[in-house]
Amino acid sequence: MNDTRLAPKIRLHVAQPLGPAQTVPLEREQANYLFNVMRLGPGDLVALFNGRDGEWLAEVITAGKRAGELRCHAQSAPQRMPPDVWLLFAPIKKARTDFIVEKAAEMGAARIVPVQTEFTNSERIRRDRLQAHAVEAAEQCGGTYVPEVTDLLRLDRLLDQWPEDRRLMFCDETLAGGAAGLSGFARGDPWAILIGPEGGFSEAERARLRGASLARAVSLGPRILRADTAAVAALTLWQTALGDW
Ligand code: SAH
Repeated sequence: MNDTRLAPKIRLHVAQPLGPAQTVPLEREQANYLFNVMRLGPGDLVALFNGRDGEWLAEVITAGKRAGELRCHAQSAPQRMPPDVWLLFAPIKKARTDFIVEKAAEMGAARIVPVQTEFTNSERIRRDRLQAHAVEAAEQCGGTYVPEVTDLLRLDRLLDQWPEDRRLMFCDETLAGGAAGLSGFARGDPWAILIGPEGGFSEAERARLRGASLARAVSLGPRILRADTAAVAALTLWQTALGDW
């Protein structure tokens, strides 16, 4: 082992189990990143996590152009799960949707759910690409957990089958300027945050959400925020009031 590299800066998400002396074969893209882009070689250390087993220090055993193998040494951080909060958002333009997924992963969302509302601008998403953004965000922010990005779901269907124990923080732009509205809840309940598209919610959607017993309509301050800003602001508000901040 190369002792000058005991604090690796490179963090890699892998699918394989991690544990003492566990070997981890690399996929082609991972080998390319570690050995060609970052110029690592045998003896160098990287930090690995898989979303289940915490973070592990692993040593490069073999390094090829398209393949390689690492071996785990010791756990360097325990597994940490985010609070049970989902982010539901209506996809917008590609770059802004990417931003929302990246920020939601950094801000500790447990699950990221793109929803199609009446005024949603985009009818398709690339789930695999969005999931890759969530993985990169987790690698970068020191997290040991990667939120799942689901397929695009219709808001009305999602509400039809809403889990009976999950509260919903409905970010309602018509409440701009009112009080935030998250007081009076205890920590520990499962929640979801709902952010609308650039066109906001329809009257029918608003009426349904206002009438839902598990939903709480909240304001995100006196200004109307763009959907990507609103997603970060809402997660900040929720994490401060009810999450792990
Ligand atoms: N076109 C709408 C604004 C949509 S903003 C209008 O002009 O009224 C996009 C989403 O961000 C909204 O649907 C809401 O979920 C959230 N949002 C933005 N600003 C907000 C605020 N001040 N309070 C609550 N939600 C807000």
